[in-house]
Amino acid sequence: MADDLLHDAKVRELTRWIDECDRITVLTGAGISTDSGIPDFRGPNGIWTKNPKAEKASNIQNFLSDPEVRKASWRDRLDNRAWSADPNDGHRALARLERRNKLVALITQNVDGLHHAAGSSPAKVVEVHGTLREVACLECSYRDDMQIALNRVRQGEEDLDCPECGGILKSATISFGQSLVQRDLLRAEVAAQNCDLMIAIGTTLAVYPVAAVVPAAQRVGAKIAIINAEPTEMDHLADLVIRESISEVLSIAVSGVSNLPVEANEEEARDEKQS
Ligand SMILES: [Zn+2]
Repeated sequence: MADDLLHDAKVRELTRWIDECDRITVLTGAGISTDSGIPDFRGPNGIWTKNPKAEKASNIQNFLSDPEVRKASWRDRLDNRAWSADPNDGHRALARLERRNKLVALITQNVDGLHHAAGSSPAKVVEVHGTLREVACLECSYRDDMQIALNRVRQGEEDLDCPECGGILKSATISFGQSLVQRDLLRAEVAAQNCDLMIAIGTTLAVYPVAAVVPAAQRVGAKIAIINAEPTEMDHLADLVIRESISEVLSIAVSGVSNLPVEANEEEARDEKQS
């Protein structure tokens, strides 16, 4: 597996690019977290494929208008896989990329908090779809730790209200029908316009406006690399498309060219140079 990838021409190319580029912006989606046991949404084992009610709860209108949707949503939250999930080698590699001082921003569509758990700093991570680790009031500015809200559910509350204003409480994620946080969106756009390499990972790049960071980076001349198991909406824009294991590819590519085995043709090229 990983041994073959060390000799994969595309993986080696990405490794070179990461060495050469100084301003790298990364976009991640659900695909980076599947190795941590968190299912994606619409795949064969997707959350919404298996539980259509969860998809209903992800629409803000349904959540606001139907107490039963809210109650089901809080019950589902109790046994969410994200609470027990650990970051994987892909998350950890991106934390290493930051320590190499190359990361402009780590934009993520994920709400699982695993980039933070892997050691990426809050100053670099832009959670454009919010976070499952906190709750927010839909009326006022109250925010708190998700676990405090879940303790209320465990103690028997079914439909949580805001302790400050009595408004409806919800996970601090962006549901369908809710607008994104402008400040986060702006940070993502600025990061896209200030990079020399954009790496889109584990996302089909079908969800706007966040997917627009890829063409935005391309317009300023950045190289575009996509790592995803399936074809994406923007493969045609990419300079490099890799359809291999995300955690394995990132582990290799972030470790640098000096950690790659020397290929036979590279040895020849080196010998020619020396002679
Ligand atoms: Zn409130």
